[in-house]
Amino acid sequence: MEKKIAVYICSGCGIGDALDIEQLSKVATDDGGVPICKIHPNLCSKEGVELIKKDISGEEVNTVVIAACSHRVMYDAFSFENCILDRVNLREQVVWSHKPGDEDTQMMAEDYLRMGLAKVGNMELPEPYKPEEEISRDILVVGGGATGLTSALEAAKAGCSVVLVEKESELGGYQKNVKKIITFPYKEVQDNNIQGLIQEVTQNDKITVYTGANIEKTEGGPGIFQVFIKQNGSTAEHRIGAIVLAAGWKPYEPEKLDDRFGFGASPNVVTNVMFEEINNKGSINRPSDGRDVKNVAFLQCAGQRDPEHLPYCSSICCITALKQALEVKAQDPDANVFMVYREVRTPGQAEELYRMAQEAGVIFIRCQSPEVKVSGSQVNVEAEDELLGESVLLEDLDLVVLATGMVPVTAFGQDITEEGIEENEGEEEKKEGEEEEVPLDLIRRSNILNLEYRQGPELPALRYDFPDSNFICFPYESRRTGIYVAGCVRRPMGIATAQEDAAGAVMKAIQCIELTSKGAAVHPRAGDTSFPEFAMQRCTQCKRCTVECPFGAINEDEKGNPMPERTRCRRCGICMGACPERIISFKNYSVAMIGEIIKAIEVPEEDEEKPRILVLACENDAFAALDMAGLHRMQYNAWVRVIPLRCLGSMNLVWIADSLSRGIDGIFLLGCQHGDDYQCHFIKGSELADIRLSKVSETLDRLALESERVRFEPISIVDYDRLPALLDEFAEQLDEVGPNPFKGW
Ligand code: SF4
Ligand code: SF4
Repeated sequence: MEKKIAVYICSGCGIGDALDIEQLSKVATDDGGVPICKIHPNLCSKEGVELIKKDISGEEVNTVVIAACSHRVMYDAFSFENCILDRVNLREQVVWSHKPGDEDTQMMAEDYLRMGLAKVGNMELPEPYKPEEEISRDILVVGGGATGLTSALEAAKAGCSVVLVEKESELGGYQKNVKKIITFPYKEVQDNNIQGLIQEVTQNDKITVYTGANIEKTEGGPGIFQVFIKQNGSTAEHRIGAIVLAAGWKPYEPEKLDDRFGFGASPNVVTNVMFEEINNKGSINRPSDGRDVKNVAFLQCAGQRDPEHLPYCSSICCITALKQALEVKAQDPDANVFMVYREVRTPGQAEELYRMAQEAGVIFIRCQSPEVKVSGSQVNVEAEDELLGESVLLEDLDLVVLATGMVPVTAFGQDITEEGIEENEGEEEKKEGEEEEVPLDLIRRSNILNLEYRQGPELPALRYDFPDSNFICFPYESRRTGIYVAGCVRRPMGIATAQEDAAGAVMKAIQCIELTSKGAAVHPRAGDTSFPEFAMQRCTQCKRCTVECPFGAINEDEKGNPMPERTRCRRCGICMGACPERIISFKNYSVAMIGEIIKAIEVPEEDEEKPRILVLACENDAFAALDMAGLHRMQYNAWVRVIPLRCLGSMNLVWIADSLSRGIDGIFLLGCQHGDDYQCHFIKGSELADIRLSKVSETLDRLALESERVRFEPISIVDYDRLPALLDEFAEQLDEVGPNPFKGW
């Protein structure tokens, strides 16, 4: 399309007071040859927006540069159909954060306008991707426990057809073995309602149920998943729009517990799950001889919050123990019931249960490390009572109940990584001849989804094997687009929370189907209709893109060529940053485009003593933090020029080389935190950028350029107040290092 560019400069919000706007407009008209450049005192007003719209319809403008506030605000006002658009951030990142009327501030604004013009000059309008196959709006729910049943009902209520797959021969999951439940608002122990839930599901016309079934294979991606379900020796095929994984949990194996818990030493030492099975058969009795229980001890944190076993808290065992203690008391009010705990964790209204148990006469003993002593048929518990400061001996116990924890079903199975074949002991692996060390995903062959993905058959896990993808910002999301995780497979939780989770995951699944049907990305670039295009003629089959894509969106054909599965793509651009041949680009985001933006920065000669710092900032947090600094009128060095990136992982090393060879003095990379409790919006983008950067440092050293010229700093939006000092300090450091020797070449 032939571009007709128009530039609109806002002089409101202090921009006109701080800058020479007439001078600025000459950058567009005189230097840039832009035919239309208008200045308006309040561009986001109705009149301002109308001015732009009129030019789009009357003057056939199809490419607009708005030099005003950050693109993070006023996006609804500045939204024009079928029009290429860039927002030049004069407000937050120029006039609100730099000296008004200063030469450096003016130079900064002029550079940003040049950069904006370079950007739109290298952008095309994205065309949404629509797969050849019809988009399915059906939802697959994997797991027929309380979470899965609720997910199926919620999806059906929203008008979706649902396919529910349960591996056991009956629906109900763990909850079908439970006699009584406790749920919000925790006022009383209640009858188990699971049969009612099962009935609702089986009677719902929109829900097709497969029990005793498993998923043989899942092909495709959001909107076009093809799922093969095996039941009774035959295979059914379904086209599915999105998947809710509600496959649940398994109890931590009590055989693995330390000997002090006494599991296996007496049949009367049981787990909390075994207690439910006993109770569900009729009454709470002693496993050794079936006698009703008189003396019962509940031992909390059996192997939990213990780095040797489960390092986390399963969050529900204290509440469950209180419920079970109340059930013992309900059966026999004179029974002696003890709860030996490290801390009783009853958040929110569950505290009510704790109070009820106290009132019912349950005796609480605070002890870090109780010991079960079994002698013949006698079971005792020895505990150091921290509150009394003395040892207590609980004698002749009929039942000792160990609070073992919840393990997601995804934790079981063989560890695998790349191509689903190599053993992974949790170590990072490096393929022969590979230049960069890319941390591979830990995936277990847990035989649940059996994805036909080049990156492995199941969901990659976060810490402790829970397949969530970003527990800070995006609950329910997994690292496979269109597959959402709910209930105890996501994190340990009780029934009430699991049912809320079910509704949340279904909402995500529906959003995904809707966006996919429009050819748009899901969270966090919701609505983005661009997608990566591969100039395959130059592909060397190095596989970096397939390995580094955090979402498993690139398969391989039989010849080893990358094969993008576009509906799985989140548009992060990490593959673009990874590709050494630079053959991956988006219509509106490419290696060449950023290269041209860098070229648009004017680099003063050495004797002008105006160094230049390129800041490549992740637009999810770091760019927002820079805006926040401006919003708080925090001042920082005016040598910086910021380019927002979709993710720091989309950084291609050629930008660093190009910048330095143009004489830019330093490069500051701002990305999200990474590590175990990371918050990178694209999982490992910032980590990959950091890894790539380590290679740059070696190259810089080889070229006799100081490695201090390039720096990575993890930053989150809440760190905005640290940013000005960081940038100033980097500028000072560069001043000491001296000008880039490539300046003026
Ligand atoms: S790396 Fe990002 S942009 Fe590239 S294919 Fe994967 S999800 Fe899409
Ligand atoms: S990273 Fe680039 S060169 Fe390597 S396989 Fe992917 S597209 Fe081909």
